[in-house]
Amino acid sequence: MDFTAHGAVPRPVPVFDDTAPAVVNLDPALLGALRRAAADATCGFVVNGGWRSPQYQAHLFREAVAKYGSPAAAARWVATPGTSAHVAGAAVDVGPADARAWLAEHGAGYGLCQIYRNEPWHYELRPEAVERGCPPLYPDPSHDPRMRR
Ligand SMILES: [Zn+2]
Repeated sequence: MDFTAHGAVPRPVPVFDDTAPAVVNLDPALLGALRRAAADATCGFVVNGGWRSPQYQAHLFREAVAKYGSPAAAARWVATPGTSAHVAGAAVDVGPADARAWLAEHGAGYGLCQIYRNEPWHYELRPEAVERGCPPLYPDPSHDPRMRR
């Protein structure tokens, strides 16, 4: 099944793409911050994952359960449709490695923060980070209170 309309990203998409559902359905504030950062950085930014439909997120979670053996183990890597920041359009998985390195150093100035230690590609908007810096990292999503609803 082709999930592109549901936010699947078969190939990395430039952050300035205006057609990919994974990009155009992101929260406008998050996408704006990401594009400002990408315009200032010297390296290219691509999106490996962005907005996802609940159906696609459910598909990813089922795949993760098959791969990791249980829903609890899968939850360290993939959120359920009800909890995923990707479904809300509030998270973006950034590549390649040099763009992630640039964001790790400069992202807070744009309100762009890594959230999980085990996902150096996953960024969300934390506007207060511009003033205060990014919040401490969770070891993985299973430690995130938002994931326990
Ligand atoms: Zn992510």
